[in-house]
Amino acid sequence: MFSAKKLYEGKAKILYSTEDPDILLTFFKDDATAFNAQKKGTIAGKGEVNCTVSAGLFTWLESLGIPTHYIDCPATDKMRVRAVTIIPIEVVVRNIAAGSLCKQTGLPLGKLLNPPLVEFYLKDDELGDPLLTFERLMLLEIVSAEQLQNIRSMALNINQHLQQFFENCKINLVDFKLEFGLDRNNNLLLADEISPDTCRLWEQNVSDPQQRVMDKDRFRQDLGEIESAYQEVKQRVLARLEKLGL
Ligand code: UDP
Repeated sequence: MFSAKKLYEGKAKILYSTEDPDILLTFFKDDATAFNAQKKGTIAGKGEVNCTVSAGLFTWLESLGIPTHYIDCPATDKMRVRAVTIIPIEVVVRNIAAGSLCKQTGLPLGKLLNPPLVEFYLKDDELGDPLLTFERLMLLEIVSAEQLQNIRSMALNINQHLQQFFENCKINLVDFKLEFGLDRNNNLLLADEISPDTCRLWEQNVSDPQQRVMDKDRFRQDLGEIESAYQEVKQRVLARLEKLGL
């Protein structure tokens, strides 16, 4: 009898093997961390929200021709995904200045970024996920210049779609982080998750910089009402997907 093996436990998810070596099972945890795991806590229902929101957005992106690792959800907090080798780069797309961009450059919070900014960070907790330059990316030989170009254009394409999607949810997509992977045939697939843990989402038509936050910044900044903000994002995403017939 086959028993799933725990392959890897991260801060927010656990990865298990399945009977099929090309398929993995991801369990989304309620555990929350911030500031490179210096702040730890639990957000009740977060695993379910992040799994459901990610599954819905992946399904929708697939319908638009964007390849993802998503297969299906055997439970509301579990996702079956295609096995990929994760490229150890965090791809951040920004439409509005916030977070580390403001801290590191002095740009004011809320400044519109047009065209959007695409940034690459090394996925390495011990090194503190440093921002990479093109030259450093080439030096590290994590990706080829061509792969990087593909990742960049996929990220910008995803941003265009997601911005429109959240606009229809009356939410501003401030910024978000993507991860990509390569399958056994070297196809580039969107991987990981797209959720309130990995996106900054601001309620439209609310100018108060704390009240408008609908994402993990509520946890990072101790703003309270974290669970209800996550549930609200889930409800709006599901309502929009239903309208789209998904
Ligand atoms: N982000 C993420 N994981 C990380 C770092 C960032 O999901 O390890 C997301 C974050 O939620 C935000 C975007 O990427 O939506 C940009 O984050 P930023 O660089 O501003 O860093 P932060 O302010 O979160 O330290």
